Amino acid sequence: MSKILIVEDEEAIADLEKDYLELSGFKVEVANDGQSGISKALKGNYDLFILDLMLPGVDGFDICRQIREEKNTPIIMVSAKKDDIDKIRGLGLGADDYMTKPFSPSELVARVKAHLARYDRLTGSAAQKNKVIEIRGLKIDTTARRVWINEEEKTFTTKEFDLLTFLASHPNHVYTKEELFREIWDMESIGDIATVTVHIKKIREKVEMDTSNPQYIETIWGVGYRFKV
Ligand code: CA
Repeated sequence: MSKILIVEDEEAIADLEKDYLELSGFKVEVANDGQSGISKALKGNYDLFILDLMLPGVDGFDICRQIREEKNTPIIMVSAKKDDIDKIRGLGLGADDYMTKPFSPSELVARVKAHLARYDRLTGSAAQKNKVIEIRGLKIDTTARRVWINEEEKTFTTKEFDLLTFLASHPNHVYTKEELFREIWDMESIGDIATVTVHIKKIREKVEMDTSNPQYIETIWGVGYRFKV
């Protein structure tokens, strides 16, 4: 959840902005004066700043300048005066957007979303991360198709990997050999379910400390297998 800091001395405006942003699913904090605004902004871990320009103590210009010395976090500056907006733009303080009061809260929310999305694209935090399953000492990188047991990488055949990943992705779910065969080998063939048993045995040899007392893939007698969590 993205976290936003609003620095605004008019409490009614700050509350309105906060309410709308929270309704849109953001986590919001408010500072009502420049000094607490700047200390929160520099210490906290925010995803976006909304800075009012005219504030008691440190004004929005200074806060913007000080944030930019340390962070690239998106900044939206707001002011009651159109002239001030032109002035800020002219100063090149590094704010990402400017809004003149009064503005509609939904316009603010739309701009916040646009800047967060843009920043995500720039910093790559929206980039696809590998999907990793970690259960006790077993780690499966399902994207890179690699498996480690207690930090040691093990080699799996394609079907062994698919079977292990399928079971680990559905922990505590009991599957029959027929179901597993259909799922992994993708064909209806009752005669070859022994293949499943053979593959389970090979997987256990790689992941289990003691194959006679399996900690990961459990045999449910007369039914099939389940991945224990
Ligand atoms: Ca103000």
